[in-house]
Amino acid sequence: MGVRFAVLFLDLDRFKSVNDSLGHAFGDKLLQSVSQRLLTCVRASDTVSRQGGDEFVLLLAEQKGAGEAASIAAKILAALTLPHWIDGHELITTTSIGISLYPEDGDNPEALIKSADTAMYHAKEKGRNNYQFYKDEMNLHLVERQQVEASLRRALDHEEFTLHYQAKVNLDTGMITGAEALLRWRHPEWGMVAPARFIPVAEATGLILPIGRWVLGEACKQAKRWLDLGLPIGAIAVNISAIQLRQEDFVSRVKAILHQTGLPGRHLQLEITESVLMADAAHNGTVLQQLKDIGVQWAVDDFGTGYSSLSYLSQFPIDVLKIDHSFVSSIETGPHDGIIASAVIGMGNNLDLCVVAEGVETWAQVEFLRQRHCDEAQGFLFSHPIPSDAFAKLLVAGPPRLAA
Ligand code: C2E
Ligand code: MG
Ligand code: MG
Repeated sequence: MGVRFAVLFLDLDRFKSVNDSLGHAFGDKLLQSVSQRLLTCVRASDTVSRQGGDEFVLLLAEQKGAGEAASIAAKILAALTLPHWIDGHELITTTSIGISLYPEDGDNPEALIKSADTAMYHAKEKGRNNYQFYKDEMNLHLVERQQVEASLRRALDHEEFTLHYQAKVNLDTGMITGAEALLRWRHPEWGMVAPARFIPVAEATGLILPIGRWVLGEACKQAKRWLDLGLPIGAIAVNISAIQLRQEDFVSRVKAILHQTGLPGRHLQLEITESVLMADAAHNGTVLQQLKDIGVQWAVDDFGTGYSSLSYLSQFPIDVLKIDHSFVSSIETGPHDGIIASAVIGMGNNLDLCVVAEGVETWAQVEFLRQRHCDEAQGFLFSHPIPSDAFAKLLVAGPPRLAA
């Protein structure tokens, strides 16, 4: 393998408000404190530079791959969340990180920094205090973005959205325990548009609110239909974006949808990402509890990509931890990721949470997960996300066979 390295683009979250409220001299000291912390997270062969303002660029030399860059990013997020003491004030700050890899995301420094910068914006949109790897689809040109936005505005009225359902499987019994509802957009000219391409636009424009309400209503309606047919659907999981969770009437809207569709709360599971959960602990704690009181379950999605401690997680009434697929996909390849997957399973078991591995594609991964007492798995190995009628057949036919 040739030389590999990674570029991390960091931007402090809400730094402007520190500067505005406490003054520039104070802001400068905070930046110094942040630089010191950054230096403790990297090796001597790596380079840390200030890009201007509250932005930093890190060049990580001799990378073994994405897993290693991810673990350094996680380490930085953790190091930066510890309080800074400045002139007798305790200050907490978080950061958003974008990551690009050489050679796949750019073949020169400028291109790599630009890709990492794009990924950093994505991390901000995902609710801050997290890291994101650069993906080609993030680099939507403004024109394409505007086209997506214009088409998205019509998509709801024109009934271009549909939901696909992906099974979750109990790793002991092989039984289907539920399904995750995943949004699909059938554009009249472009064909199927992947969520990664339009959800960021929907979030940036606020269109995620009406779209998210439609998803929730549709998923609950479908789950109720399956229950009425006597199909053992378990809980239907719906992804909730940060913007939806922040809405003041979020709780009452969910309750209204459950009421209208007649779906009992215990058959609904809401998925939020780790970074969204962490972003506003006080508010989220209340929202989670209010829905938990009527039986709704909460799952933390893409777990392992942010930084949550055991004590932090235990503050919230959470039921499920979903291990991010990046840690599952490299179980066999990098010893490092096997360790993260094991640690998440251990943490979930200690907290008495149901642990679900996402993106399971091989039996070797299943074996690894079972040995570590991971409860459930979701992935192409068992079923792709499929339309509702196909999913109903899967429920009738019974669970996919697990290896002995
Ligand atoms: P997610 O919630 O983590 O969903 C799991 C994603 O992993 C899905 O991608 C699924 O198709 C994919 N996946 C499942 N099994 C495998 C596997 O074995 N291998 C691989 N490589 N991938 C697998 P999808 O459907 O493209 O959705 C991407 C993301 O878009 C979701 O990630 C979720 O964050 C977001 N999303 C999807 N539907 C909704 C929605 O209704 N509302 C919101 N707010 N976000 C949504
Ligand atoms: Mg999900
Ligand atoms: Mg996920």
